[in-house]
Amino acid sequence: MTTKLSTANEFIARHIGPRQADEQAMLATLGFESLDALSASVIPESIKGTSVLNLPAGQSEADALASIKAIAAKNQLCKTYIGQGYYNCHTPSPILRNLLENPAWYTAYTPYQPEISQGRLEALLNFQTLISDLSGLPIANASLLDEATAAAEAMTFCKRLSKNKSSNAFFASRHCHPQTLDVLRTRAEPLGIDVVVGDERGLTDLSPFFGALLQYPASNGDVFDYRELVERFHAANALVAVAADLLALTLLTPPGEFGADVAIGSAQRFGVPLGFGGPHAAYFATRDAFKRDMPGRLVGVSVDRHGKPALRLAMQTREQHIRREKATSNICTAQVLLANIASMYAVYHGPHGLTQIAQRIHQLTAILAKGLTALGLNVEQSEFFDTLTLHTASKTQTLHANAHAKHINLRVVDDERVGVSLDETCGPSDVTALWALLAADGQALPDFDALAHTVSGTLPAALLRQSPILSHPVFNRYHSETELMRYLRRLADKDLALDRTMIPLGSCTMKLNAASEMIPITWAEFGSLHPFAPVEQSQGYQQLTHELEAMLCAATGYDAISLQPNAGSQGEYAGLLAIRAYHQSRGEERRDICLIPSSAHGTNPATANMAGMRVVVTACDARGNVDIEDLRAKAIEHSEHLAALMITYPSTHGVFEEGIREICGIIHDHGGQVYIDGANMNAMVGLCAPGKFGGDVSHLNLHKTFCIPHGGGGPGVGPIGVKSHLTPFLPGHASLPRKQGAVCAAPFGSASILPITWMYIRMMGGEGLKRASQMAILNANYIARRLEEHFPVLYSGSNGLVAHECILDLRPLKDSSGISVDDVAKRLIDFGFHAPTMSFPVAGTLMIEPTESESKQELDRFCDAMIRIREEIRAVENGALDKDDNPLKNAPHTAAEMVGEWTHPYSREQAVYPVESLIESKYWPPVGRVDNVFGDRNLVCACPSIENYQEA
Ligand SMILES: *Cc1c(COP(=O)(O)O)cnc(C)c1O
Repeated sequence: MTTKLSTANEFIARHIGPRQADEQAMLATLGFESLDALSASVIPESIKGTSVLNLPAGQSEADALASIKAIAAKNQLCKTYIGQGYYNCHTPSPILRNLLENPAWYTAYTPYQPEISQGRLEALLNFQTLISDLSGLPIANASLLDEATAAAEAMTFCKRLSKNKSSNAFFASRHCHPQTLDVLRTRAEPLGIDVVVGDERGLTDLSPFFGALLQYPASNGDVFDYRELVERFHAANALVAVAADLLALTLLTPPGEFGADVAIGSAQRFGVPLGFGGPHAAYFATRDAFKRDMPGRLVGVSVDRHGKPALRLAMQTREQHIRREKATSNICTAQVLLANIASMYAVYHGPHGLTQIAQRIHQLTAILAKGLTALGLNVEQSEFFDTLTLHTASKTQTLHANAHAKHINLRVVDDERVGVSLDETCGPSDVTALWALLAADGQALPDFDALAHTVSGTLPAALLRQSPILSHPVFNRYHSETELMRYLRRLADKDLALDRTMIPLGSCTMKLNAASEMIPITWAEFGSLHPFAPVEQSQGYQQLTHELEAMLCAATGYDAISLQPNAGSQGEYAGLLAIRAYHQSRGEERRDICLIPSSAHGTNPATANMAGMRVVVTACDARGNVDIEDLRAKAIEHSEHLAALMITYPSTHGVFEEGIREICGIIHDHGGQVYIDGANMNAMVGLCAPGKFGGDVSHLNLHKTFCIPHGGGGPGVGPIGVKSHLTPFLPGHASLPRKQGAVCAAPFGSASILPITWMYIRMMGGEGLKRASQMAILNANYIARRLEEHFPVLYSGSNGLVAHECILDLRPLKDSSGISVDDVAKRLIDFGFHAPTMSFPVAGTLMIEPTESESKQELDRFCDAMIRIREEIRAVENGALDKDDNPLKNAPHTAAEMVGEWTHPYSREQAVYPVESLIESKYWPPVGRVDNVFGDRNLVCACPSIENYQEA
């Protein structure tokens, strides 16, 4: 045997679950000789060979880490006072290590299965309570994507709820952050909303407006008293949204107390790194009367079947899947991990700690201002929290140059002004350094200590906060590191994430988030960069995004990529806007019909609606394929107005439709553009390329196909790829050369998690990526084959094979036994599994996607559980188990049930140890099956008081 001396790339075999021998065994089960033979049989002839993955060979983990370290080193870390909605902060180390860097938190899925999600649901409920307390509004959601998109959601929310029905005008204060105004304009235009930007102080006639957005404190630093203005807007039947800084709200009268109908903003400075713009959690809070119209997800308190309190996502029927094209928001993946970091920051610091942080920042800013005035500088604010604007006139350019020479960044306001924002990381020496920078040559600097004794706060007395914050015990209990560490562990232990079990969620692609991919994201070189830092300081990010764009072009066959969208839904939106702008550029504004097959994901019709398009639904045939004749008929009928087709490939039914090229051809023949939803890209990378078989634009979910973790419901990244004719219509940004409007606040969206995907592609290389797709297909077909005699597989291709996921049809069992898809999903919890996707895209079914990362042992463990469950159903069918009181209907079983009186006609062993392997390793759900209806009727969306818990 010879020893190879070059560094071995073991990563491909680490990422892929099955070993060589397993692969052979699974192929044999399916009757194939090789992976190539299998994929040749699955991929339709008409699109075969469209993917040429022109990528270098994969690097080993060590080499790839060294490569990305070199890229990171090109980012320059300067002391940054830019502010504008983004502030430095300290991520408390126990939160960094035990939450952000802990797979128990970051590999979890969105908490749709509440019984296995109580830990992260509690963290989110804490977030909602934090937001509700600070904003002074009773209902807050579990996060939105960023402050600017939250502002856009607030605008459409006001439009729906305002009594000024005939108005299409929305007032936006010029004191809002510029990136917020940018996104507002983008979102308003397709909906026919007119965004009027102006100075609220000069407003006389408020009657034209259905709503307004104000910023508090203002972007330039001023703290305005909006009380009277809000009353005037209300008198004119307009609703008022206020973008508010959470930290400032510990000291200032909250928006809810001065009449605001909505408060929105960012929770970034609560312990979340700047990350060159994201990901960070945005918040949205409103009055009680509007709670049922709130965008995004809402955690609420309900009870389980034993009457014990239990958390779950409230009002699930509000989802886009139900409202479809009537949905007013397409948000799906949000920012759960980041919301949880922010909520734990508040749990750790508590009300007193947070207030002290805010007071210290404010006091330092007041000292800074006093010193600057003494130095003869013109400070424009007399009342401020942490931000000053200095009128620097003709010295402005020189000042920025001097600052950069000292590794300091000031905010570029305009040609005559600079801005300075202080944050948690600033201390006295920073204030002195700013004085030194801004003083004239030879001027003596103020004495910090002397000033510190004379300066008092400058917040307006009428706006000082009187109401208490965070009085709930959860914010007052975990202030020592030991207590916080154990609280985080206790919550994580309540949940099932990828660190304990496969999460076989069809369409959601829960694959390995490898440690080597995750390591770079908490490096300061990526974490500490401000999104609006001068471009010469972000050379590392420029290289990373450039290279990643090229990698994703290679993977998809598209010509250009925008990395800006920070979720799949936002990619859809950016894609449809590109299509819309393309038609407009050709004088074809009339094209506004979007064809969408009935099987589409709910975000598709919701997005089309937001992009100002009219949705026409096309049928699917008995095999689950797009009904091509129906599609053709509708394309002909709407030929004149056809804008686009949105289609998912391989289909949401888990099949590579053979007619995809023909379908794209029909749309193009009628002047439309093809949007291919790329959520199922994990079946295609290296095998076929949407950009080469008819797609004009696609989004990718980097948090599905490209290894970014789901984080319990976000972060996500939803870049879009386009053919060259759409390149001019990709999203722009004030800080980018492209002219189109921005779809989110930061130019590269959730930039700081892009290293995850870069690392994945760099380590897998072209060959590895192709192998991953082939293994994903093998694993799915292996499961389908093992389970098909127990549960019918709903759809397969003409060859009898599925793509990378399969749908099990449980509807016949419901008829024969009364056991529902819900019962099976909950029974899987007793076996230690997270349920597959339930009732999407077909009600009464389970959609299973194992991914390439699951080993054959884990697939077999899952199949064995499903087969055992089928036997239990059979026992119900033949009367051996009671039809109502059986382990399926009563699932999941808690530990508490085992020690109480046992009245069921089946044994405790059958309830909790249905297979022997569980004796050694058992997951105990903390609650029994959760009653959704109870919680929706009695909506409680903040931490309930202890008494309420006891009553329930
Ligand atoms: C997940 C998914 C989306 C939405 O993506 P988000 O990142 O959650 O916004 C859209 N389409 C399909 C088919 C999906 O599976």
